[in-house]
Amino acid sequence: MPPHLQFNPYIFTGYRPLLTFWGCINSLFYIHNETINILTHGIPIVYMVLNFPSAIPWKDLDSWFLPWCHIVGAICPWVGSFVYHLFMNFEGGESFYYRLLQLDMFGIWMSQSFGALPMVSASVFCLPWACRCLVMLSYCLLSVWGLYKALTAWSPWERRLCFSMPFIMRIFLCGLRYTSLGGGDPNMFHHIILQDAVSAVGGAIGAMHIPEKWFPGTVDLYLNSHNIMHVLVVTAVYSMHRATVSDLVWMAQADCRHHEKRASLLDSLGQKAEL
Ligand SMILES: [Zn+2]
Repeated sequence: MPPHLQFNPYIFTGYRPLLTFWGCINSLFYIHNETINILTHGIPIVYMVLNFPSAIPWKDLDSWFLPWCHIVGAICPWVGSFVYHLFMNFEGGESFYYRLLQLDMFGIWMSQSFGALPMVSASVFCLPWACRCLVMLSYCLLSVWGLYKALTAWSPWERRLCFSMPFIMRIFLCGLRYTSLGGGDPNMFHHIILQDAVSAVGGAIGAMHIPEKWFPGTVDLYLNSHNIMHVLVVTAVYSMHRATVSDLVWMAQADCRHHEKRASLLDSLGQKAEL
């Protein structure tokens, strides 16, 4: 293997040699150490293309922009990852490999930026207008910063950390949703937690090379850390889908009056306290 493809020191066998374009396509039809990675993100593409947009309850929604952000955000990571894993051993060499890696990162970025917009917008739905604008603008700016970092990162740790700022902001929004000020469908709170927690666990498993670090050379074809991470991020996007669809319906029917009532109650209590 050329040095740029020797990124996991605990995987000894199953590597494909450097191949032509058609050689890479042909590698879909035999088993090698990228087969599970290709299938775990290739099958979701087929599933989603067949099921979107009918999986969105369009008649219950009052906008098209946020649902489409969700559709794009839910499909892009699998497209980037599928192409990256299928063509990583293309004979184009190291510079081609890094272009593919950028494509993979771009797919993840699409789901973390556009894909997260419905969740961000539902979380602050009942806040004052200026507050909503400030949160949305900050999230967009942090996402653009993350994109710049993702596309210029050279080490695997740098690549993982470039999504940290939007991630931290989503944790704050989660906290906001838990209070009476936050919006979004309260029945989907567990999916809101799971969508980020499960992918963070997947990222950590991938970074630590578990379990191949403990059994080098025995999980080359399946059950290695990258395979486990791939399956976990698919379940994370399932949670994101469930939460987002519920949030979109919630926003179309939302009644923020109880938030206003609470705010005015707090005001009047404050006035009484002053008196
Ligand atoms: Zn991957």
